[in-house]
Amino acid sequence: MKLDGKVAVITGAARGLGRACAGRFLQEGAKLVVADIDGEELARTADALGRPEAVLAMPTDVSKRAEVDALVAAAVARFGRLDIMLNNAGIARSQSFLEIAESDFDEVIGVNLKGAFFGVQAAGRQMIAQGQGGVIINMSSINALLANPNLATYAISKGGMNQLTSVASVALAPHNIRVVGIGPGTILTEMVEKAIMTSDEARRAVLSRTPIGRCGEPSEIASVAAFLASADASYMTSQTIYPDGGRLVLNYTVPVAEG
Ligand code: NAD
Repeated sequence: MKLDGKVAVITGAARGLGRACAGRFLQEGAKLVVADIDGEELARTADALGRPEAVLAMPTDVSKRAEVDALVAAAVARFGRLDIMLNNAGIARSQSFLEIAESDFDEVIGVNLKGAFFGVQAAGRQMIAQGQGGVIINMSSINALLANPNLATYAISKGGMNQLTSVASVALAPHNIRVVGIGPGTILTEMVEKAIMTSDEARRAVLSRTPIGRCGEPSEIASVAAFLASADASYMTSQTIYPDGGRLVLNYTVPVAEG
């Protein structure tokens, strides 16, 4: 087991990629604090994980610093320490560029970028106090690098997140804390169904830019997260890696079957 005896916090864990990472981390031997703004779905997910002795559910809004600090404190109170922080909570708004209101900008940046920043700081402080290093993983996106004007606030937040990963990796390296990112391509979760796969045309557009010919499964991101969190990735820090089915390097579109 890659994460035996480790204590991990995962935000945005009620569904989607966070939930998949929670399941995988548990299988790998970790104890977990799962957090989400949707407390009801979080409680259902925690129950479904089926290991109450190893899982604490903590309703949390990551855009509020005090709540993120309380989340890390809860991990320490329940399991005695923190080894892995996965800043995964995120939201996306699909809207045309000139219609983005200040409140839209603040909301997306507040959750995706500020929330991750709070997570890095809170986890970094705790890991430094423990003196045994740790791993912080930020869930970025291919949209950190691509320029999709219909997802502008999202793309801006994830671009900032990549730089957060880089800067924090240098700040925390002297404490043996690795900071890394994952930038998934299109993975079939609720967020993608709602924000991207809204029509057959949208589905065809996504797949025409996906050399591997299909969207990813949440488990295919969870396995990357488990690798990055483990000692197998002990010399990796500062980088964001992209499980994207070949999307980022493609310089043309590929034919897609009807249906
Ligand atoms: P999702 O919508 O299925 O899950 C996101 C979870 O975050 C939800 O449970 C939601 O309640 C929670 N959340 C939202 N705001 C929150 C807040 N303020 N505080 C705490 N929790 C909050 O989305 P997903 O597809 O699983 O995405 C997870 C992460 O992966 C996001 O950061 C997203 O940007 C990133 N990502 C997803 C994809 C994809 O294709 N699914 C691709 C690239 C990146």
